[in-house]
Amino acid sequence: MRLLLVEDDRALGQGIRVALGSEGYTLDWLQDGVSALHALRSESFDLLLLDLGLPRLDGLALLQRLRGEQLDLPVLILTARDGTAERIAGLDAGADDYLIKPFDVDELKARIRALLRRSQGRAQPVLEHAGVCLDPVTQQVSWHGNEVVVTPMEYQLLHQLLARPGKVVTRERLSRALYGWQERVESNTLEVLIHNLRKKLSTELIRTVRGVGYVLELKA
Ligand code: CA
Repeated sequence: MRLLLVEDDRALGQGIRVALGSEGYTLDWLQDGVSALHALRSESFDLLLLDLGLPRLDGLALLQRLRGEQLDLPVLILTARDGTAERIAGLDAGADDYLIKPFDVDELKARIRALLRRSQGRAQPVLEHAGVCLDPVTQQVSWHGNEVVVTPMEYQLLHQLLARPGKVVTRERLSRALYGWQERVESNTLEVLIHNLRKKLSTELIRTVRGVGYVLELKA
């Protein structure tokens, strides 16, 4: 799951990054509304954590632009205690939920889980090709009907490939979906994940396209 945090308070941003780091999410963090709008238009995220008071383009205006452009990812607003009016405006503009600062990180995690569950149940059908079945709601994977235990990273990778069966998915796209814009990604990390998936599922299933990326075979 790739989350985008838009928050200009550095201490709070760092705190959220640390808190969510242990949950297996990929978290990208931007500090102004204009950069966030560009990112949301060009990349795909599963959830947006949005502060309302932001430089360059405030959170409410950003949210209105998003919804105007039919970008319908779940949005959780982070707002100040005295901001009742802007909270209501945020919900009216299409936010799915809000949290009042300062908030408890466990509550933040619970709200995120609930929003992701809701959006996945709504938008994502079971993906099934060549004997592999992946259920985004339960996050379970099976191979010819037998459940296969995969790590969160292996799951994300398989999800990316299963969403485009028979098509080459580039290394760049895969590492962005898995790690966001994080700079320090070991160069062989993708290979290790692919190796593990081949071992757990089938060696025939995922084909390497040298120098480009990977393809999930239609028949394996
Ligand atoms: Ca702010």
